[in-house]
Amino acid sequence: MVTDTSGTVHWLFGDQLGPHFVDPARGGPRRDAPLLMIEARSVFRRRTFHRAKAHLVLSAMRHRAAELGDRVRYVKADTYRQGLREAVGEAPVTVHHPTSHAARAFVSALPSVRVLPARGFLVTHDEFKLWADGHGTGHLRHEDFYRWVRQTHDLLMEGDRPAGGRWNLDHENRRPPPRGATELAVPAPYRAKEDDIDAEVRNDLDRWARDGDVEFVGEDAPRTFPATRREALAALRRFVGHRLATFGAYEDAVLTGDPTMSHSLLSSSLNLGLLDPAECAERAEAAWRAGDVPLNSAEGFVRQIAGWREYVWHVYWYFGTEYRASNALRHHEPLPEWFTELSPDATDANCLAHVLRQVRTTGWTHHIPRLMILGSFALQRGWDPHAVTDWFHRSFVDGYDWVMVPNVVGMSQYADGGRMTTKPYTSAGAYIDRMSDFCGPCRFKPSVRVGEDACPFTAGYWNLLHRHRDRFERNGRMSQAVRGLDRLADLDELLEQERRR
Ligand SMILES: Cc1cc2nc3c(=O)[nH]c(=O)nc-3n(C[C@H](O)[C@H](O)[C@H](O)COP(=O)(O)OP(=O)(O)OC[C@H]3O[C@@H](n4cnc5c(N)ncnc54)[C@H](O)[C@@H]3O)c2cc1C
Ligand code: SF4
Repeated sequence: MVTDTSGTVHWLFGDQLGPHFVDPARGGPRRDAPLLMIEARSVFRRRTFHRAKAHLVLSAMRHRAAELGDRVRYVKADTYRQGLREAVGEAPVTVHHPTSHAARAFVSALPSVRVLPARGFLVTHDEFKLWADGHGTGHLRHEDFYRWVRQTHDLLMEGDRPAGGRWNLDHENRRPPPRGATELAVPAPYRAKEDDIDAEVRNDLDRWARDGDVEFVGEDAPRTFPATRREALAALRRFVGHRLATFGAYEDAVLTGDPTMSHSLLSSSLNLGLLDPAECAERAEAAWRAGDVPLNSAEGFVRQIAGWREYVWHVYWYFGTEYRASNALRHHEPLPEWFTELSPDATDANCLAHVLRQVRTTGWTHHIPRLMILGSFALQRGWDPHAVTDWFHRSFVDGYDWVMVPNVVGMSQYADGGRMTTKPYTSAGAYIDRMSDFCGPCRFKPSVRVGEDACPFTAGYWNLLHRHRDRFERNGRMSQAVRGLDRLADLDELLEQERRR
């Protein structure tokens, strides 16, 4: 039992690992409060996780426990309930607001547990509710929210005006990759190095898999994502100092030979709680004020951190537990096994094979492959959005329920019928051709929709528009694209081809 001599025991979940989760000045536990961490094996039994993700989470938890030393009791148990019973019995416990509906319901139902406010986000639940209630549930647009966060948190502001006079620099941030380039001319991202704790994690995961206790998918290559606060700060420093300058312009570009482009690779560190979003946004702003990076890059990054990440977190809670079950397009197709098994050789589509291979070997891709290749393909094929959400959650090192549900159900699969986005994010092969170098060596041609060379994204795009013609015709941002169906002389042939595919 943890002996509570100087305060209530405080429980840290595996995604609450940074100093801001134990800071009494920010509503955390007393400085001398004993801490508890529970490594619950059942979490890994529930889903077939990417092995690199399981490794990262366990490594980060065990590293944090090693840092906290005698202050923490680290319990390995089958379930959270068992771990809690073993460590504290019926004694009172505090915990910061967990990050999923299920975990929140679990801790709220335990009489001995007191839930403290959430940490790791800029905007509180109460602040968001005030903002959202003032906007009406039908119009919770990200752009409005983002501007409000910039103003209320004084980010990239000059008085009450946005720095540089414009809120949105997106049109400067959508450049295709430099012509003829195989990679961006930018220093490599920070890569962590493994230590004895990682070796122990790898042994444990090998043993669990050998015993048939849990199953994994994907490769557990040497860990490169940060597992400690020190590593995460080094990754942030490297990004802001060496890579942020080119982040903006090439944010949406994809190159076969450069999987990371100029992205930060900070999502897993933020989601493990190793970094606080405020420090990330503030450092990007400071780099711009010092003249080290252009405004479009600083704004593009702040938009991701203070805009999208915050928005997604709050949408998850604000729309409630039923949101995940949304299926406005009534898509029910199961995911094919080659997709769930991350088997890139099963598809001839070069873009899809390449991105699946990247997920298999690293558990990460940047946002355009997630949205415009993996997600778009699933949407066009009519795959069940809940199964797609589950797949993303399991397969990515940064995947957690709160971030996957809005990103997949809302943004990528349009399963909420437009509560989060004004139109579905999907495209024909022409977009992929413009923003990447995938199409040249592909056996399909992006401009062809019917026949041997028909690009699955181009044919899939028209097929999707046809399937949901009634709904999309009523959407002002889609109606023109839908009218394009009438100009396709080979539409019947295309529909037949897609039925057979
Ligand atoms: C279908 C789909 C699934 C996604 N699943 C996840 C997920 O499970 N976990 C996750 O953290 N992000 C997710 N994202 C958002 C985004 O793709 C990743 O955060 C980003 O690619 C991670 O790489 P990065 O750290 O280099 O990001 P950068 O491009 O460098 O962006 C900086 C940071 O902004 C934040 N961010 C940007 N966009 C989003 C967003 N839409 N939602 C939440 N945070 C955002 C992340 O913390 C990210 O680290 C998803 C996006 C899509 C379209
Ligand atoms: S032609 Fe189509 S399938 Fe091939 S890489 Fe381009 S978009 Fe992907």
